[in-house]
Amino acid sequence: MTKDWFMDYAEHALRVIELEQEWLEIRYLHLYGEEFRGRHDVQWTKDEHGRFTGSVSSGGGSAGGGKSKKTIDKKRGSGIIKENGNSPQHTYEKIGEIDFSDKKSIAKSLQEFEHKYNDSDIEHCRVICSSGEVYDVHGDLDTVDTSLLGDKLKGSINEHNHVKGESQYSFSWEDLCSSADDGSKISIAFDEKYRYAMEFPDIRPNQDKVYNAYQKAKLSVFEDMFSNPLLIPEGDEQNVIIGRTCRELKIKYTRTPR
Ligand SMILES: [Zn+2]
Repeated sequence: MTKDWFMDYAEHALRVIELEQEWLEIRYLHLYGEEFRGRHDVQWTKDEHGRFTGSVSSGGGSAGGGKSKKTIDKKRGSGIIKENGNSPQHTYEKIGEIDFSDKKSIAKSLQEFEHKYNDSDIEHCRVICSSGEVYDVHGDLDTVDTSLLGDKLKGSINEHNHVKGESQYSFSWEDLCSSADDGSKISIAFDEKYRYAMEFPDIRPNQDKVYNAYQKAKLSVFEDMFSNPLLIPEGDEQNVIIGRTCRELKIKYTRTPR
C-alpha cells in the first residue's frame, strides 16, 4: 500500500461522505420542500470536515404566523402560513346537534362523516363542539380552514379527510399547529389507508413549544434516515415526525389501519 493510494482513498471517502450529506439534504428538500431551506428554523453549515450540520434556531418566531388570523398555504407540507386572511372560499354548515356526553352518538357521527367524504376530492372537517353543535367545514384539495368556527373549536372533537393520493399518512404540520392552537380536545384525520388521532392534554403546549418540538423531531428523523435508511420505512417519515413531536408534547398520538 503506497501512501499515495491511501491519500487517494481518504479523499475519495471524504467525497463520498459529502455526497451522502448532499443527497440527504436533497432528499429532505424533496420531502419537505423549500420550507426546509427557506425558513430560518434550520441552518445548514459545513463543518471543518466539509459535512453539513443542521441546527434549529430557538426563536420559533415564525411559528404559525403569530396570533393573527391565519389561513394555511395550499402547498401541502410547505409549512407556510399566510397572514393575509384570504381564505380560499372555505365554507361551513351546521349539520345538527348531539349529546356531547354520549360517546356512541359521537362515534356514529364520525362514522357517517367518513362514509360521506371517503371519496371526496377536497378536504372536509366535521367539528363536534362541546356544546353538542355539529358542523361540517368544506375546504380544498390540500386544506380545510376550521378557524372559520373560531371559539367553537375549544374542547371539540373533530375529524377531517385527506384526499386519496395526497396524504402523507399522518397529520401535517398545519394540522398539528392549528389543532394545538384552536383548543381541539381530540383531532382525528383519515385517508385511504389509516386513521390517526391526537388527544391534547389539559395543559396545552404553547405555539413555540409545538414549533420547536416539531423542528427537533424533523431533524432527528432526518438524521435517522441518514444513519440507517431502514429504520424508518419509506413513506412513513411524517408519521414518525408527528409521533416524536407528540411524545415530547404529551399529546396522545395513535395511527391505525382502516
Ligand atoms: Zn390534514
